[in-house]
Amino acid sequence: MAYDDGNIFAKILRGEIPCKKVAEDEHTLAFEDINPLRAVHVLVIPKGAYVDWRDFAATASADEQTAFTRMIAYVADITGIAGSGYRVISNIGRDGGQEVPHLHMHVLGGEPVGSLVPRG
Ligand code: AMP
Repeated sequence: MAYDDGNIFAKILRGEIPCKKVAEDEHTLAFEDINPLRAVHVLVIPKGAYVDWRDFAATASADEQTAFTRMIAYVADITGIAGSGYRVISNIGRDGGQEVPHLHMHVLGGEPVGSLVPRG
């Protein structure tokens, strides 16, 4: 899938629409999900234009990949969920239920997250 820079996260990164920022570094942005599914629901996105894990793993620099991983752990720390536990989810493509075609991780916690996925 080609990257579509009209997607909503690209607009957030360009400052065209607001977000509730949680943390940011040179390569990564973390912000609150607009429709939170748990007490803590933060999205972590690379600033680069990557659609999915295949794209990111193949073309992002080592620094970008390291920053992305570290930001997830940092978000868990600063939102206070690292000790009680949390879930990190990435929806990819049609079967994964990806709505926004810019790679992102959902960081969910602050209360029990429940079963991994409902049985289909
Ligand atoms: P996914 O289904 O994994 O692509 O999830 C996309 C997520 O983006 C959903 O959880 C939405 O609630 C969230 N979302 C959509 N628009 C915004 C926005 N403007 N700000 C924050 N989160 C958003």
